[in-house]
Amino acid sequence: MTQKLILSCEFFPPKTEKGIAILQQVRKDLAVLRPEFYSVTFGAGGSTQDNTLNAVIDIQQAQAETGIDATPHLSCVGSTADAIRAHLQTFQDNDIHRIVALRGDLPSGMRDPGDFRYANELIDFIRQETGDHFHIEVACYPEVHPQADNATVDFANFKRKVDAGANSAITQYFYNIDAYTVFVDCCQNNGIDIPIVPGIMPINNYAQLARFSDACGAEIPRWLRKQLEAYGENNADDMQAFVTEFLTYFCQQLIDAGAPGLHFYTMNRTDPTLTICKNLGLVT
Ligand code: FAD
Repeated sequence: MTQKLILSCEFFPPKTEKGIAILQQVRKDLAVLRPEFYSVTFGAGGSTQDNTLNAVIDIQQAQAETGIDATPHLSCVGSTADAIRAHLQTFQDNDIHRIVALRGDLPSGMRDPGDFRYANELIDFIRQETGDHFHIEVACYPEVHPQADNATVDFANFKRKVDAGANSAITQYFYNIDAYTVFVDCCQNNGIDIPIVPGIMPINNYAQLARFSDACGAEIPRWLRKQLEAYGENNADDMQAFVTEFLTYFCQQLIDAGAPGLHFYTMNRTDPTLTICKNLGLVT
């Protein structure tokens, strides 16, 4: 029997009334995908953390009607055990049962890493403080985390998170199917059987994505870069059509390779996530 594909969507926390209204509409539009959860990113170091909580509470308040779980990201770098404990309590008070637990990156200018050095320590802490209350999602890196010396070391560090109690993992985005299948094989060979859900990054702004990819260690293959560069700034519609077609094909390859789900980094946009899912026959 084929397993149901788990879909999920990621948003960043809006800062303005206009951004809040846009996100509410995007959430409504994407609800036809019947995603398992909507997650909201979390800025390490402070300033946008209230926006994350507000967005998450908004999603959770609609949960009874939509069936979509609200899932805050929580990063520990630069934070204290007391601050993390307070976040966990707030989530529990708001009936939130799922978290994406991360180390995060220390914002420039901030030097003190705080009470937690790595995500596995955060997961240990969450389990100690809250037992099995939360379903814990973690990050993983089929193309290797940029700070890791090599794939073996990075994989061993990923395994620490699983051993500490992670329930499932979402990958950093990638555009190379082999990176995913090799990573999943490595999990199987090392007794890791939690779902490894590929993170899908729709491409809206190529220049921005290229800068971000350099920093986070995600590779945009040469053939894809050259295609995207050829559209330039004045062919946004043609580029979107190309990206949608490519990502539909890429997601189908991932599904055929046995991916248990797809996690869309939506950038608070309905498309191309919705069109890709329609093309894949995932909208009933
Ligand atoms: P870790 O798992 O701690 O790994 C970080 C590095 O340390 C790796 O190189 C690893 O190999 C190494 N390492 C891990 N454990 C140990 C150990 N015990 N000893 C020695 N070395 C170790 N960032 C945000 O700020 N906010 C977000 O909301 C956010 N959401 C994300 C969602 C997803 C799905 C993904 C893939 C990334 C997200 N990020 C977010 C980015 C993430 O915070 C960065 O990639 C960060 O650099 C690493 O976080 P991590 O939880 O993977 O760290």
